[in-house]
Amino acid sequence: MSCVFCAIAGGEIPVARIAEDEAGLAFPDANPKSPGHLLVIPHQHVADLGDGADAYVAVAPLVARVSRLVSERLGADGVNLVVNSGESAGQEVFHLHVHVIPRYGRSEPPADAQAAVDALSGA
Ligand code: AMP
Repeated sequence: MSCVFCAIAGGEIPVARIAEDEAGLAFPDANPKSPGHLLVIPHQHVADLGDGADAYVAVAPLVARVSRLVSERLGADGVNLVVNSGESAGQEVFHLHVHVIPRYGRSEPPADAQAAVDALSGA
């Protein structure tokens, strides 16, 4: 079975590896809903929450870490955490992932998505 997020986790598809720990990897969403939109995935393949609730718990520290990062590096003053689990919920890539979507209510957003990635890189 070919899985694009497994290929990203394994390094076969290059991405900006924003942050990583033993459980998972955070990298930029290719179609960001806001500058700095990240995806956090477990290294190990699980399709969705039904398949991998333990993997979801295991990536929670990394989700918290990158949520702080978008605040500190990008000045986001809010963040949406979203998991689409299952086709009926709008899931399109069937490797569990958490969307980390920075919000800029009263703060100035980065100029564009690339500026956000540059500011987040090397964390
Ligand atoms: P979901 O509807 O929760 O399954 O969302 C899948 C997300 O993965 C979408 O926001 C896509 O923009 C994103 N995505 C799909 N392929 C890639 C990729 N190769 N690199 C980065 N993001 C991707």
